[in-house]
Amino acid sequence: MNRRYRKTVIAGNWKMNMTASETKKFAEDIRKIMPRAKWCETLLCVPACNIPVASKAFKDLRISVGAENVYFEEKGAYTGEVSAEMLKDLAVKYVIIGHSERRQYFGETDQTVNKKVHAVLNAGMSPIICVGESLEQRETGITNEWIALQVKSALFGVPADKLRRCIIAYEPIWAIGTGKTATAEQAGEVCSNIRATIRSLYGARVARSVTIQYGGSMNEKNAAELLAQPDIDGGLIGGASLVPEKFVEIINAANQE
Ligand code: PEP
Repeated sequence: MNRRYRKTVIAGNWKMNMTASETKKFAEDIRKIMPRAKWCETLLCVPACNIPVASKAFKDLRISVGAENVYFEEKGAYTGEVSAEMLKDLAVKYVIIGHSERRQYFGETDQTVNKKVHAVLNAGMSPIICVGESLEQRETGITNEWIALQVKSALFGVPADKLRRCIIAYEPIWAIGTGKTATAEQAGEVCSNIRATIRSLYGARVARSVTIQYGGSMNEKNAAELLAQPDIDGGLIGGASLVPEKFVEIINAANQE
């Protein structure tokens, strides 16, 4: 983390978990243990249908509500989709874009990711752009090239003033939901390469202001070590964000002096 130049952001990704009533129960439980506001910004990205209930339940808890996906078109005949304006209207500030599960199961490509990034930025919100390599790509030794390509494609056409609103989440696919975490050094190295890619596109001043998260089985035990890496400015957390005690421990790790 480097709080001098950029914000630390701990974000939960609830995926397709938690009903509206479970969301309310989670809010009641986390209320009892939520730390006072410090440096780290906290949010939970929830299923779209539960955004209103989550916003109400987390209102005075210093937890913002984010979305897990968006469609890039403004409006029209796109049955089942949700637009950026619709999310904005619900006071959503952050939207996860290009999660590997969306790339794997729902055919998202670097091109659709780029369109979604523009839609979110044009609506005044912040995209959390997910990038990450497969195990095969890591073993072949092409991790950094692959991720640089994903970052460049996602940011294609994004001007520097809007880039400041973007978060990049480095999520090695082999570490998501598997209990396998990248070592702090592996994660730190890729995150610093992501910053180098941004530097090559936008210059050093802009690059140092961008929040880069790590995601992939981050939990209450490994968070502090991962967050100690200079280029890891937060976490995108799946499983552990569903358990109030675990999520709070991760927030505490991000709030350490
Ligand atoms: C995720 O969903 O982005 C994620 C990192 O999941 P998990 O923490 O469960 O690996």
